Amino acid sequence: MATTGIFTFGGINLVTLYNTYNDRDAVFQFLDQVITNATTLGISDETKTELRGIRSQIALLSLPSGAEYQTQYIRRINKSTNPAQHIRRAITNDWINRVSPASKFFVVANTTGTPSHYWSKQSTTTRPYWSPFDLLGLFFSKMGPAPNFSTANEANFYLPLTAVYARFCMWIGLNKKPALTDDPATENRRGAGVGDPSFYYQCTWDPQTGDFFLGAVLAGYEWALHGRDETGKWSDRLRQTRRNLLTGGFHAFPGTYTDWRTSPVIRTGRGKQIFGNCAETYPFLEMLGDHVTSLEKRRQMEGLALQRDFSKFNRYVATDIKPFVGPPCGNCQQLLRWAGAVNPADYHFDPKKARPVVAAPPPTTTGGSTTGGSTTGGSTTGGGTTTGGSTTGGGTTTGGSTTGGGSTTGGGTTTGGGSTTGGGTTTGGSTTGVATS
Ligand SMILES: [Zn+2]
Repeated sequence: MATTGIFTFGGINLVTLYNTYNDRDAVFQFLDQVITNATTLGISDETKTELRGIRSQIALLSLPSGAEYQTQYIRRINKSTNPAQHIRRAITNDWINRVSPASKFFVVANTTGTPSHYWSKQSTTTRPYWSPFDLLGLFFSKMGPAPNFSTANEANFYLPLTAVYARFCMWIGLNKKPALTDDPATENRRGAGVGDPSFYYQCTWDPQTGDFFLGAVLAGYEWALHGRDETGKWSDRLRQTRRNLLTGGFHAFPGTYTDWRTSPVIRTGRGKQIFGNCAETYPFLEMLGDHVTSLEKRRQMEGLALQRDFSKFNRYVATDIKPFVGPPCGNCQQLLRWAGAVNPADYHFDPKKARPVVAAPPPTTTGGSTTGGSTTGGSTTGGGTTTGGSTTGGGTTTGGSTTGGGSTTGGGTTTGGGSTTGGGTTTGGSTTGVATS
């Protein structure tokens, strides 16, 4: 058995959770036993109360019959919240009043005037949660830190943890289930929920404390009904709502990307995802956000993202799962730069792509003056201001060559979107050399 060396989580070995907790009821059985055994597991009474609340919100948004997942009929205005989806939603007044164009729904994060849908792990700033997958990541994360954290690493804890989290997401919702047998055919794995599984599942952790946070790509939504788009501008509204989670809590965000429809990935023609779409959204906010005031602490964070197709394996074998770990996309690389956490080795540089994910920060500071970053010989990456050198992460540069909007020089990687002054080169919105998953 491959459990050797792999940690328990919530009192159960992660390999056992992966291999045998194989339906929706088993997921809730696990959550419930964590709450029941909270004291034994080292979870405080305060956190235990929060876990109970989070668990009930997950149930409302999940299979098979969560009240906030299913369609609700609103008799008074002769409307229903169809199509069913794993998003806490309500009908907009514009839709009721037949204003066009309108989004049928808005995300409901606070129905009562009290922050009953707002949570956080460790910052003083709470944020709304309205998807069962993000709520499940929150639940897991609040069970932390990693047991025996001083020895927790990707192999013995964070990779199997992320895999279990991702499979649990697929058991409580979505249209595709993880494999139960050695037959990986996807047609045998049709799920009863709505929407494709998140393409990536991410874990960010602090190797010194064992604190971690799990998240998933925005998922579980549905625009169409009976094959037709029946929800108006809901796609825009939902994606913009998730993107706006980053506003006010994440360093220089949005920088030059003030239009919500723009992002490094879009500007470089590498995809269509906007900021906030990614699995990293909540983990980065919790582990790398403004409340983490120490740059050194932000820099020490590590992370991995696991692509969903790993779930075709019905047994946890590390060598099967590991190839589905991917590097952060261009948008997440930009977030990392803003946070000053720019060591590619810590975010799983993909050697197959033979390109740096983000440029490595210089190891020491010599010459020039720098804030918020480090400088070697006058070049800087990450979040700071440099004079006499060449660049600033997320700022402007004088005297050297730079690309703006969180920029990198010297690593062979340039991302655009900013402006350059002082005789350098500007890519002006084009990107070269960035590996994007
Ligand atoms: Zn991303």
